[in-house]
Amino acid sequence: MRYISTRGESSAVGFTDAVLGGLAPDGGLYVPEAWPALARDRIAAFAGMSYAQVAAEVLGAFAGDEITPAEMLAMCEEAYATFSHRAVVPMVQIGPQTFIAELFHGPSLAFKDVAMQILARLYDHFLGRQGRKQTILCATSGDTGGAAVEAFRGAKNVKVVVMFPEGRISEVQRRFMTTAEEGNIACVAVNGTFDDCQAILKDAFLDRVLRQSVDLAAVNSINFARIAAQSVYYFTTAAALGAPDRPVNFVVPSGNFGDAFAGYVARRLGLPVKRIVVATNSNDILARAFTTGRYTRGAVQPTLSPAMDIQSASNFERLYFEAVRRDSVETARAFEAFRTSGVIDIPPVALSYMQGIFSGVAIGEDETTRTIVSTLNETGELIDPHTAVAVAVLRHVDLEGPTVVMSTAHPAKFPDDVTRASGVQPMLPRGVASLSGRRERFDRLPGDADTIKAYVRAFAEA
Ligand SMILES: *Cc1c(COP(=O)(O)O)cnc(C)c1O
Repeated sequence: MRYISTRGESSAVGFTDAVLGGLAPDGGLYVPEAWPALARDRIAAFAGMSYAQVAAEVLGAFAGDEITPAEMLAMCEEAYATFSHRAVVPMVQIGPQTFIAELFHGPSLAFKDVAMQILARLYDHFLGRQGRKQTILCATSGDTGGAAVEAFRGAKNVKVVVMFPEGRISEVQRRFMTTAEEGNIACVAVNGTFDDCQAILKDAFLDRVLRQSVDLAAVNSINFARIAAQSVYYFTTAAALGAPDRPVNFVVPSGNFGDAFAGYVARRLGLPVKRIVVATNSNDILARAFTTGRYTRGAVQPTLSPAMDIQSASNFERLYFEAVRRDSVETARAFEAFRTSGVIDIPPVALSYMQGIFSGVAIGEDETTRTIVSTLNETGELIDPHTAVAVAVLRHVDLEGPTVVMSTAHPAKFPDDVTRASGVQPMLPRGVASLSGRRERFDRLPGDADTIKAYVRAFAEA
């Protein structure tokens, strides 16, 4: 299996290099040269398999011959044994045809664990085999950082620097990152927004000297292995609801568009995914793009769902590439122009391709709060604000057949907002209850690429 860049100026690489490289050298994102396909009877068989077994089969299709099936299964079993629920991603029914998929039973209580736990094992495997050490630079809107720290702490061949926007994430989110004691982890509170952090990350990756001297790697959702790992729960949930015989809809709380794009990936592999509804908060770039055909960056507004406070969704480039029939010249033109102009006018043919699968709905703060309350009253389920954005979307769309809402965070990750909305205090699961007593360790830096790049170099070389 070979991976090509959406911008067409980098040479094709294997799965190992796509995973270890993250972003392609030309600034584009890696996608498989051709989508693998899973046969209908294999998808039907997923209903009787463990989560780790399905993950091994789906990821195996992307890894090709670079990992043996036995190695892949062993890594998946280890990765998903860190989850506190035996089903890994269990479902709860909240309406006649509506289900919540709980993606938050991993060590940092957010859906990012699902991909990060397997990604850390893939890194370990590949780097060990090559006798190589890397520095992971990560920008987080709240949950990626905690998941990365949980997955990579103590890793022998990897150092991790996590940047988060100071004051824009919850205390629990921050503590998942800053209380790690292992010396291979460094946390930086950046004076700026998540989009600023993401811009610094891109800048660091385009700095050839830095990139080579510290062997820079990315685990943000621009890393294709994360997307591949996230496509797995589309298969397990749909198979449990009768796929491939019954098509299934998904509603996905979205920010960087990694999670929702993973649903598209599952569909390309052969899963009958009917519609994917992208749920956003008032940072609605994706909802506007799918509705109006204009992808335009706005100012980032802080909301109750901070992991979705994003106004330029990296993975949208992957969908755009598919929607323009894999025209890499057009994709490069559009996204290079977007960097300065902040606007892409989606060509009509590409827009109707996108609209055939995706719709987008934006939900305001009041409705998010009301949905936490109504879901508790009507179903007894306490949901977090990110999940509430997606549950709120159900009232605005008309979906036929079974629908799965992705629940991306545990309510105890946002205790203040959830308590204020519902009057019920969410309890942290037992394993993480000691978080508030641990010592924090992080550095504060201005949102300036050169300062942060110097910090990364010093940490990597220490
Ligand atoms: C990261 C995150 C999202 C957004 O996912 P994307 O893949 O960036 O679209 C939604 N909810 C929570 C809780 C998250 O951590």
